[in-house]
Amino acid sequence: MPHQPRKRFGQNFLHDHHIIQKIVKVINPQSNEHLIEIGPGLGALTQYLAQAGTQLEVIEIDRDLLAGLTNLAEQHANLTIHHADALKFDFNRLVKSSERLRIVGNLPYNISTPLLFHLINHIQLVKDMYFMLQKEVVERLAAKPGESAYGRLSVMVQYYCQVSYLFTVKPGAFYPAPKVDSAIVRLIPHPALPYVAKDFNFFSQIVLHAFNQRRKTLQNSLKTLLTTEQIKASGIDPTIRPEQLSVADFVQLSNQV
Ligand code: SAM
Repeated sequence: MPHQPRKRFGQNFLHDHHIIQKIVKVINPQSNEHLIEIGPGLGALTQYLAQAGTQLEVIEIDRDLLAGLTNLAEQHANLTIHHADALKFDFNRLVKSSERLRIVGNLPYNISTPLLFHLINHIQLVKDMYFMLQKEVVERLAAKPGESAYGRLSVMVQYYCQVSYLFTVKPGAFYPAPKVDSAIVRLIPHPALPYVAKDFNFFSQIVLHAFNQRRKTLQNSLKTLLTTEQIKASGIDPTIRPEQLSVADFVQLSNQV
C-alpha cells in the first residue's frame, strides 16, 4: 500500500524530477564527502545523493518509511539509516577524524526553526548545509537589517553562517502540495566568526528581548538587560528599533557588559 503522508511529521514529498535534479546539482555531492540527510522520506533526494558515492547517513523519524529506505540501502553500501528524531540527534557521534559534515534536507516545516537552532549548536562540525524550507523562513534567514523579514532567526544564524537564498520552489513540486511557496537555502559557517560575543548567552538574550517587542525602541525592550547609558556607551542610539541593528551591532551591545 502506498505511504499515506503524515501531517504531524511535516510530510510533503518531492515528486518533481526537474526540481529534485536541480537540488542535487546545487548540493553537488562528491564521493569523498560525508553527507547527512535529515528526513529522507521516500528517498526522492536520497537515491541521487547515494548514487554520487558519498558517505551518506540519513535520519528519519517515521518508522513506516524505514522499509523503503532499507531497500535503498541494500542497493547502496554507502548509505546508513538512523531511525531517530533529528531534533534530539547528537551529530557529534557521526563525525570521524577531522572531517566536517555536509547536512541537507527537505525539512519538515513544523520543526524547521528549532531544528536550525539545534544544528547551530553543532556548527563546529558542519562544512555546509542546504535546506528546503518555507519561503518565508528562508527570507527570514537571509534578511538584512531594515528589511521586514529581519529578526531573531536572521541575527542568530548570520552570527555563525553566511546565508544564501538559492531558488524558490512552487507547491506543485510536492505531494501533497503545501499551501505556501518553498525555497532552497545554503548556509556556510564562517571560517572564523566575524564578530565574537564575549558571553554568547547574554548576546542571545539581547537578541531575544529586542525582537520579542520589535515595535519598541531598544531602550524599552532591553531595559531588564541594559541601561540606556550602556546602550549609548556601545555607540548605538537607544531610541532606534531592533530591526535597524546589524549582527555586529548586537554583538557590540552584548559586549558592553
Ligand atoms: N526528503 C523527502 C522528500 O524531499 O520528498 C521528505 C521530505 S518531508 C518534507 C520531511 C521528512 O522529514 C519526512 O520524511 C518526515 O517523516 C521527516 N521528519 C519529520 N520530523 C522529523 C524529525 N524530527 N526527525 C527526523 N525526520 C523527521
